[in-house]
Amino acid sequence: MEKEDVVEKMRHSAAHVMAHAVRNLFPEVKIGIGPAIEDGFYYDFDKLEPFVPEDLERIEAEMARIMEADRKFLRREVTRAEAEQIFADQPYKLELIREIADEVSTVYEEGGFVDWCRGPHVESTGKIGAYKLRSIAGAYWRGEERNPMLQRIYGTAWATKEDLDAYLHRLEEAEKRDHRKLGRELELFSFDEEVGPGLVLWHPKGALMRKIIEDYWRATHYEGGYELVQTPHIARQHLWATSGHLEFFAEGMYGPMEIEGQPYRIKPMNCPFHLAIYKSRIRSYRELPIRWAELGTVYRYERSGTLHGLIRVRGFTQDDAHIICRPDQLDDEVTRVLSFVMDMLSRFGFNEYGVYLSTRPEKYVGDDEGWEKATAALRKALEARHPDYKVDEGAGVFYGPKIDVKIKDALGREHQCSTIQVDFNEPERFDISYIGDDGKAHRPIMIHRALLGSLERFFAVLIEHYAGAFPLWLAPVQVILLPIADRHHDYARLVAADLSAKGFRVSVDDRNEKTG
Ligand SMILES: [Zn+2]
Ligand SMILES: [Zn+2]
Repeated sequence: MEKEDVVEKMRHSAAHVMAHAVRNLFPEVKIGIGPAIEDGFYYDFDKLEPFVPEDLERIEAEMARIMEADRKFLRREVTRAEAEQIFADQPYKLELIREIADEVSTVYEEGGFVDWCRGPHVESTGKIGAYKLRSIAGAYWRGEERNPMLQRIYGTAWATKEDLDAYLHRLEEAEKRDHRKLGRELELFSFDEEVGPGLVLWHPKGALMRKIIEDYWRATHYEGGYELVQTPHIARQHLWATSGHLEFFAEGMYGPMEIEGQPYRIKPMNCPFHLAIYKSRIRSYRELPIRWAELGTVYRYERSGTLHGLIRVRGFTQDDAHIICRPDQLDDEVTRVLSFVMDMLSRFGFNEYGVYLSTRPEKYVGDDEGWEKATAALRKALEARHPDYKVDEGAGVFYGPKIDVKIKDALGREHQCSTIQVDFNEPERFDISYIGDDGKAHRPIMIHRALLGSLERFFAVLIEHYAGAFPLWLAPVQVILLPIADRHHDYARLVAADLSAKGFRVSVDDRNEKTG
């Protein structure tokens, strides 16, 4: 942790030095903000002419000079009036100072360059470690589209040259494996401006892989004691009021459409439909646990700027399931789901995970006893199946504690996939019950769970993990026959037909090209 703090200070300090270097080289430039970010830092600049890649080299050289001088970062407290005076010729800084500065704030100075900043910083410019400027991008001032577009320079900084080199190597490897690039090259999927951003078009090979994944998923769910259900894509707005989504999830939902005078909404989640099936008749304690699964396609609003390949989209399919059980069944059910998660992920070649238990947040529904029991059930399952987990205190959802499983890919990156959430809220809101052996109505417990998460995101992770070279059972084409000469074509087709009849996915490459 301490080392991370130091690196973060280095990154933010590097941002100052970069702004200093830019001001030395381009004195007319106005500066925005320059925070540390994951793996690096950035700074936003208002400059008439766009930066060109050669500028990055010049800026790097100037930064090297400033670092060489090893000037101290000096912290100074200033009043708001003093701050306004220091940054009188810097409109972006002034705007921030006028809007958010306390009566007394701080500035940091090194070698004559002053920035309005809370700190902290490394001691001096010589203590920044190894860095590299990486790219230039446009960024609206304060992320607002009506504001001016500034130029953002991204850099990366690390404690040592070795760390920097390792990072640059990982990046290079990640670029080669980028699912957007491979998805195009392998013709797996695409997007189309006219269809709309964030809406995935699955091409034949991608759709075939998806079918293989879905077939496997459906079969293992039936084997695992689940039943499959299927529900609509839209529902009356009223349903989303009952479920609480209009209250807690409104900004993630698309606006209403009117059907015969009634407002309807496209679904952001599948849960309310499953509860409606549950409520279609009276349920007995003997029927529980009920395990209903659905490959449910949902639609959620994401800002266009945040969309990213298949990772962040506007329509995606969750491998969703809801388990409705009696309180005495909770332990077993959670353990069972966790085992299911591990088995499913290892089938796809993922055997390393980061596992997180999120406990009760400050604002929550349900009683303390329920929370304790549910959290204990999650802990027990984790102790049994994956004792090496981390606790995220207070990071549970307001309606219940949860387990998140993040898979580690070939490059060691973690991707959120599986989630197991206990829910005290929806059963209450939908007023669901079962008749106990005492003949009275009782409230069941509900578990939401997804193993792969979203099929789209999981597919992106698969592509990048395998760099497009999929395991045999997933590969859209398993065998390609290469006839050496034209006279072999018929025989090649014969072999292909034979293999195909045995269930292999085969193609014959009969192009008139040399077989190398
Ligand atoms: Zn600073
Ligand atoms: Zn759910």
